[in-house]
Amino acid sequence: MVVELISVGTELLLGNIVNTNTQYLAEKCALLGLSMYHQVTVGDNRERLFAVFSEALNRSDVVILTGGLGPTEDDLTKEVCAEVLGLPLEEDAHTRERIQEYFRKSLYKKIPDNNWKQALVPHGAKVLDNSNGTAPGLILEKDGKRAVLLPGPPGELIPLFQEQVSPYLQKLQPGVIRSQMVKICGQGESQVEDQILDLIDSQSNPTIATYAKTAEVHLRITARASSEEEAKKLLKPVVKEIKNRFGKDVYTTREEETLEMAVVSLLKKHELTVTTAESCTGGLIAGRLVNVPGASEVFNQGFITYSNKSKRKVLGVSKGTLKKYGAVSEQTAKEMAAGGVLAADADACVAVSGIAGPGADGEKPVGLVYIACFIKDKVTVEEFHFRGNREKIREQSVIKALDMLRRLILSTCQS
Ligand code: ATP
Repeated sequence: MVVELISVGTELLLGNIVNTNTQYLAEKCALLGLSMYHQVTVGDNRERLFAVFSEALNRSDVVILTGGLGPTEDDLTKEVCAEVLGLPLEEDAHTRERIQEYFRKSLYKKIPDNNWKQALVPHGAKVLDNSNGTAPGLILEKDGKRAVLLPGPPGELIPLFQEQVSPYLQKLQPGVIRSQMVKICGQGESQVEDQILDLIDSQSNPTIATYAKTAEVHLRITARASSEEEAKKLLKPVVKEIKNRFGKDVYTTREEETLEMAVVSLLKKHELTVTTAESCTGGLIAGRLVNVPGASEVFNQGFITYSNKSKRKVLGVSKGTLKKYGAVSEQTAKEMAAGGVLAADADACVAVSGIAGPGADGEKPVGLVYIACFIKDKVTVEEFHFRGNREKIREQSVIKALDMLRRLILSTCQS
């Protein structure tokens, strides 16, 4: 089954808004096992929309259009699709009622005349009630071709897709599609691919897709089967094999689990508290930890010690160390980690000191970062050379710091 996306809106062409709908829909369609060969963006222009929709219908089984369902003159999607498919517009009493109800509950008591336009639907359309706006979604079917029309605002589109369009698309294809994620930290994308080339080369069902993230690689394993049970059976050995190959580099196989969630749950499991002593990351590690609901059980406080003075005053880094080795050094990072544990009365501390740039610091290059981790009376330090701009260097530092903490908990608490 081939699906195609058409995003309608001149503001998309002008770069005024980011096309997040396409990213969302493309990912969801891939998860449903649909093939997608084209994504088109077109402005609010009748002739051009007519042409791209006609072309899309010719080459795809399902065309999903987003945007242009509003009440104003330049909202043309429904009218153009109805014209191409030869379906006359008719008033839908149910939608009219919902528009009335929507306005009754809203601040605007008088319904603007042009909103009634939204109660018109192409003959035979399946109407998808929109609980978050006045424009309903629509499914049009004619001669084996299908068009799904969705409103542009993501707050309206996403619930409509999840609740009504996804089940509709699922029914078009026999069987079920299930997938599982394996999240890896500590190896680059090509390194990961290298180690599973044999699995990738022989894949047909399940399939393996790799996604490179900053300092992480995610693998999605997807199986198509006639039942839930069968899909699970297909996924299990492949996931097991991948986990075996990557060992501790795999931090989770749960789609929704982030690196910081994995770290917080390990800290909870081993009843450890942690603190952070951050220089170039300026609180980003603490921020990531606090992203996790329930982090307060393991995290009481963190420190941002940007200047040498604060490293000395708050963390007790010695003047001599700073003078002899500099702030960005193995020795300083180690003292920061040890000092953090004392200052926060925590069981562990992760400390970062580095040069995020753009300017270098004397002899030391941009991207040089030391991460130290104090746990169980032992401090471990690693030197990194990150590439990229300031933002990327800081982001990589955060992930490496969280990952280092995770690995040290695993090795010191589970050995
Ligand atoms: P409505 O009339 O219900 O607002 P509509 O279907 O007419 O919706 P548009 O007028 O095309 O949609 O877009 C409305 C808003 O929706 C845009 O200003 C933008 O904020 C958002 N939007 C539209 N298309 C996209 C897209 N592809 N990705 C992200 N946001 C979008």
